[in-house]
Amino acid sequence: MRVVLIGFRGTGKTETGRLLSHLLSVPFLDTDAIIETAAGMTIHEIFSREGEDGFRAREREVVRTLPAGDAVVGTGGGVILDPANVALLRRGSTVVLLEADESVIEKRIAASTRPPLTTLPLREEIAALLEMRRPLYAAASDFSVDTTARSPNEVCLTIQKFLNEGTVTVHARESLVSFLSGSGISDSDVNDARVLTDKDLWEPRTRLFAIAGSPATQSKSPALFNRLFSRYGLFCHYLRFQDPDLSRILRLANECDLRGMSVTIPFKQEILSSLTDIEVNADAIGAVNTVVWSGKRIYGYNTDWIGIREPLSELRGENAVLLGAGGAAAAAVYALLSLDMDVTILNRTVEKAEVLATRFGCSYGPPGAFDRLNPTVVVNATSIGMEPELKSPLQKHQLRSTMTVFDLVYTPPETPLLRIARNTGCQTIPGTEMFVRQAAAQFRHFTGIAPPLELVRDAMP
Ligand code: NAP
Repeated sequence: MRVVLIGFRGTGKTETGRLLSHLLSVPFLDTDAIIETAAGMTIHEIFSREGEDGFRAREREVVRTLPAGDAVVGTGGGVILDPANVALLRRGSTVVLLEADESVIEKRIAASTRPPLTTLPLREEIAALLEMRRPLYAAASDFSVDTTARSPNEVCLTIQKFLNEGTVTVHARESLVSFLSGSGISDSDVNDARVLTDKDLWEPRTRLFAIAGSPATQSKSPALFNRLFSRYGLFCHYLRFQDPDLSRILRLANECDLRGMSVTIPFKQEILSSLTDIEVNADAIGAVNTVVWSGKRIYGYNTDWIGIREPLSELRGENAVLLGAGGAAAAAVYALLSLDMDVTILNRTVEKAEVLATRFGCSYGPPGAFDRLNPTVVVNATSIGMEPELKSPLQKHQLRSTMTVFDLVYTPPETPLLRIARNTGCQTIPGTEMFVRQAAAQFRHFTGIAPPLELVRDAMP
């Protein structure tokens, strides 16, 4: 059994780590202590001689070379800032986040000789760093314990209970399988979920993830994320929640202590009211496609816009036409504006284009306006071209070889629009690029690990 403790200074990692290692009869490895021994200096001395960068480089090396096998590993508060550290720490381990109220942290570390990381007074430094790190701690951990009012002994017993029993009861797993069986998803998806009720296959430390949508049967996310979880050696499993009623999905999520959820049509706006922390980009777009539960908080993110922005990032200040005014289009407008593009939104239902354009301060019109706009960037955010209706929203005579055409539709990977655009000599970007990039960003919110795009492409079903 390998357990990694993460969390801010003063949350009790060292004391809990020592006690827990006794309780589990495994060695205690404290990365800060190993760094000090290897450097022949205290952390304070390393910071004053080599700065934070020097300390982080030493920390990375210690994490990379930690002895394998059963252990309790205590870490420094900033170890999770580097996703490469998180990938190494998480492999085959359960990562437990220790938390505490700011006032308690302040009291616990007031007498510490550790160097400050900012020029702020202690309480403000704690608040500022926690604000920035809280989502990173949430992402990197499997389970969290609030140590504010618990003794180290109580904290250890809570962790031990999680390791032995997990947080998903037999009853919850049975009702989950029965929900999935009646939800209209494929037999193979239901069979895949039987791991939940098989006492030989079920690992109590497993954390559950799911895609929530209606429909959700076509999503490639379950296969993709399960492959990535296995590639990184994580005790995680990803399911398919298909239901037209979001409140039923959220009840299920609560019952089986879901750790993370991808959100698709039609819930990306509706989910907003159930979250405690909405990231600034998701708030501006008005839609969330990624949810992470941690302790009392429910975090919401939007990674769709990242999947649209990244493939276009070399193009700035261009004239862009966006076809469509639905959920994907909102993320696309935000991405295009972040690249200083001049954006015109064209949509079959012009009123919807008007609402979106007014929100973001851009132009709009009906699809027929395309020919007089002469764009250099064209993004298709309509569902035209999606299987089984293989049509193109634009005809060959409307395209020019100077255009970059990005089709967000990714089933099929080669859409009629992309085929016509390629034959015209346009630069083309397939919807799979968006899918891979938004999924990579989502995986990071779910796990704290930043998978290389090549790995995500390889893991695509
Ligand atoms: P949505 O909210 O339902 O919006 C659909 C849009 O398509 C609306 O603007 C709608 O126009 C338009 N549309 C649908 N059928 C049309 C038709 N026959 N003629 C003209 N316009 C039509 O859907 P969404 O979530 O934005 O998704 C749009 C597309 O993006 C889907 O194909 C989806 O698969 C794709 N997508 C891809 C990724 C990826 O990772 N690659 C991620 C998200 C979405 P009206 O307003 O007039 O109805």
